[in-house]
Amino acid sequence: MQFQHTETLNQPLRFGEGKQYWINTFGCQMNEHDSEVMAALIENLGYRPASGPEEADLLIINTCAVRKKPEDKVSSMLGKLTVLKEGKNDLIIAVGGCMTQQQDLARHIKNRFSEVDLIFGTHALPRLPELLERAHLEKETVVDIKEDYTGREGLPAARTSTFQAWLPIIYGCNNFCAYCVVPFVRGRERSRRFEAIISEAAALSDQNYREITLLGQNVNSYGHDLPGKPSFASLLDELDRIEGLSRIRFMTSHPKDLSPDLIKTVARGKKICEHFHLPAQSGSDRILKKMNRRYTREQYLALVREIKAAIPGVSITSDIIVGFPGETEEDFSAPLDLLKQVRFDSAFAFIYSPRQGTKAEKLTDNTTYREKEQRLQALNKIQQRISLEENERLVGNLLEVMVEGPSKNNPELQTGRTRTNKLVHFTGPASLTGTIIPICITEARTWNLFGEMEGEPR
Ligand code: SF4
Repeated sequence: MQFQHTETLNQPLRFGEGKQYWINTFGCQMNEHDSEVMAALIENLGYRPASGPEEADLLIINTCAVRKKPEDKVSSMLGKLTVLKEGKNDLIIAVGGCMTQQQDLARHIKNRFSEVDLIFGTHALPRLPELLERAHLEKETVVDIKEDYTGREGLPAARTSTFQAWLPIIYGCNNFCAYCVVPFVRGRERSRRFEAIISEAAALSDQNYREITLLGQNVNSYGHDLPGKPSFASLLDELDRIEGLSRIRFMTSHPKDLSPDLIKTVARGKKICEHFHLPAQSGSDRILKKMNRRYTREQYLALVREIKAAIPGVSITSDIIVGFPGETEEDFSAPLDLLKQVRFDSAFAFIYSPRQGTKAEKLTDNTTYREKEQRLQALNKIQQRISLEENERLVGNLLEVMVEGPSKNNPELQTGRTRTNKLVHFTGPASLTGTIIPICITEARTWNLFGEMEGEPR
């Protein structure tokens, strides 16, 4: 069916009427939220969500570029999805996100998958409706990976939960850690206006959202680019006063600028959850320097001591990179020791993955992949023991759990999270979803807890 160009018609774009869309999201919480924004923009075009790619008229892959693995998954998924076009030539396939924000990778996808109709970057979301219209009209693959930050504020979101909401507070990152592609694909730091965040949180509370998670590559940097430089701590303080909200979470914090003020704010906050995700990445000062992390092992340990002293029962989780170029056996003993000293509630460890355009990509790397795998196993073995021991200390405790719904692995059980972000499974009705209920912990496992309801939901 031929489309009239809207400029001429000046009509709202509705070329999705009677059609369905399907979005697959790779990567982090910021990507999850970007997909919610894409969904709302697409639904405004008339599309409705499809139950699977086979039923859809529009397929969108929201990509991640943090490591090679998610990139490989995108290529294999595109291999499967482009086959669907054989039976449906008006099917629109679009690829967006961090992978396609990079020119070389956008060109690679365009050349390898000619069935792809639209390639867009992380900054193109506000232009998605027009880009999709062009993808319908134009024969050539439409590409928009401009580093244009305008138009992001105020975009709608079709949220996947009715009681938990992602709330970005700052976009981009200026830290340029030597291994990281994020500053190249998410751009420079742009804090959202203080009032815009407060009014969005208040609106979410009015819509019965009980938990908000503040998102930023580094939330600690919030406000440095705004008039009057409002601090992240002052933003949390203000959010803590919003009636109706029960929980406020935030991620991710860079250790280099986590202020004592922030620690005090979390300690005294009523709704601010006692959980810090504090990526250490390494425990070796030599490697931390090469990574351009701008803190030392001792500074990291001092920060952890300060947090634990100020907030009893706080949970701290982390990220560790194994096998950074030049990491010796001696260097590697340092993160192992850091785990034992900090006793993280959990730590996500990954083998270093060279990223195009980053400083580390040019570094000599003589450690074999096999050696890196052995280091990863050794590190995970230590962390799994610590995670289990930390969970075992909670057996017998009565913890408040926000119920997220039936357990993915066992529909007989309900699942939820404590304020310290621990996963808890218990027997109870699905009607508890979205409520907060006291659970007595009866059993501990490495990655989760089991318990029994002990009290009324609220
Ligand atoms: S702080 Fe470092 S690791 Fe985190 S997003 Fe920024 S550059 Fe990447």
